Amino acid sequence: VRFDELSLSPEVQRAITEMGYEEASPIQSAAIPVLLAGKDVIGQAQTGTGKTAAFSIPAIEGVNGDSRDVQVIVLCPTRELAVQVSGEIQKLGKYKKGLAVVPIYGGSSYDRQFRALERGVQIVIGTPGRVMDHIERGTLKLDKATKIILDEADEMLDMGFRDDIEYVLSKMPENRQTVFFSATMSKPILEMTKKYQRDPQTVKV
Ligand code: AMP
Repeated sequence: VRFDELSLSPEVQRAITEMGYEEASPIQSAAIPVLLAGKDVIGQAQTGTGKTAAFSIPAIEGVNGDSRDVQVIVLCPTRELAVQVSGEIQKLGKYKKGLAVVPIYGGSSYDRQFRALERGVQIVIGTPGRVMDHIERGTLKLDKATKIILDEADEMLDMGFRDDIEYVLSKMPENRQTVFFSATMSKPILEMTKKYQRDPQTVKV
């Protein structure tokens, strides 16, 4: 479908047009309406399918730009992916009033990340270990975060991030939207989705 059939806000539609996207990719056409409706989603899609925009567009649409509470957390397996996803969210959210986004990952100074978090951001994109560290230090609070996206969830589990992910989930409200994106649907992933999602809809391309 075309993006202008997806009932997006003028701000997000304008950014999408500027980025040169016209047609939504199959994963975007399938996932965006379900995510906008607030449902839990299991998205099965490889890199290169447009999965980043598929979860980022609804995440941006759901943010209240008047509040500076963290509202969305995106977990990624690597710092490179966290930086990439953060960049895409920044571009897609360019015209969204009051939107602030920060990537947090290991190997970069706590201090700089801390200052960004202190100023207030609505979307945090990070690697599980560093996100957990910030929660433990009290520099990141997720009590108002009502949406979590696990990007490349299979990779994160393979890398041993399960405990860190479960820690992050335990610090969020139970009443939230929980979204898994994964290239493969292994048994551990399905166990996680059973444990943490409510009535999830599977979207596969
Ligand atoms: P991803 O699967 O998220 O890594 O995205 C793969 C690439 O496709 C990225 O470089 C995006 O900028 C680009 N892309 C995502 N959605 C679209 C779209 N609807 N039309 C054209 N390019 C897109």
